[in-house]
Amino acid sequence: MSVLIVGSTALDSIKTPKAENPKLLGGSASHAAVAASFFAPVKLVGVVGEDFPKPYIQLYRKHKINLDGLQLKEGKTFHWSGEYEVNMDNRQTLLTELGVFETFTPHLPESHKKSPFVLLANIAPSLQAHVLDQMQRPKFIIADTMDLWLNIALKDLLALIGRVDAFVLNESEAHQLTERSNILHAAREIHKLGPKYVIIKKGHNGAFLSSPRGLFVCPAYPLEDVVDPTGAGDAFVGAIMGYLATRSGPIEKNLRRAMVYGSVVASFCCEGFGLTRLTKLKRPEIDKRVAELEKLVRF
Ligand code: AMP
Repeated sequence: MSVLIVGSTALDSIKTPKAENPKLLGGSASHAAVAASFFAPVKLVGVVGEDFPKPYIQLYRKHKINLDGLQLKEGKTFHWSGEYEVNMDNRQTLLTELGVFETFTPHLPESHKKSPFVLLANIAPSLQAHVLDQMQRPKFIIADTMDLWLNIALKDLLALIGRVDAFVLNESEAHQLTERSNILHAAREIHKLGPKYVIIKKGHNGAFLSSPRGLFVCPAYPLEDVVDPTGAGDAFVGAIMGYLATRSGPIEKNLRRAMVYGSVVASFCCEGFGLTRLTKLKRPEIDKRVAELEKLVRF
């Protein structure tokens, strides 16, 4: 089954203590779409400007990502720039130029409206909601967010959370949203807002799932060298959705393993700047690392 992904399609300029790379292919939807494409057919919904490099379109195509929902508009592509501190965990946003995103309204082609799996990657919650308005009864909806929307669009975000099956956010965002410093309490509060599944990302410490079947602690794959963690969270949720779209049976049955796949694909994402590692990745490498991770956590 296919996965519909809406989110940002961006040019990312990234600075780490070791290197600097301008205008790489980025955006929440780009990372998520490439990650999901290792498992299932992907339909991307987003917007780019006239400056969007042709080789980046070819990268999407290389991953067989359906681009019927990608709008090309007069103006500049969304440009985001961030700088990491030495620990590679703390990041500062240096610049956000909305460009064509300023007037973006996601329009779904007819062929996209029946997609069974919907990933609302990080983007303004009102736009995420607009995508849902156009969908016809998806099987499973997951939404991601970022602190910006908690700060400037909380009302829209709360309305959106009430409409999704699963909600994904960082640990710090979970604390901010619920005003609870304990992760179990925070998850419980988020369930009260609507979602059956709550996934809390903990960076290099893995992720946490709260669901009707109980709790799951998902490990992160230990890496010696983190080159650039940009988009790891998007790759995590993209791979989760790609994996789920290939499995039969209830979501609950497959979600834990999906998270382990997400964690592994996210680890590959961190091994290169932007999408450079993921766009060279092959499926057998993912399966091998999942098997290694399984051995690492078995006791
Ligand atoms: P992550 O490292 O998982 O937080 O994701 C980083 C990605 O989010 C980058 O590729 C950025 O282009 C994208 N991004 C940054 N700010 C925004 C924003 N305000 N809206 C949508 N996407 C964003």
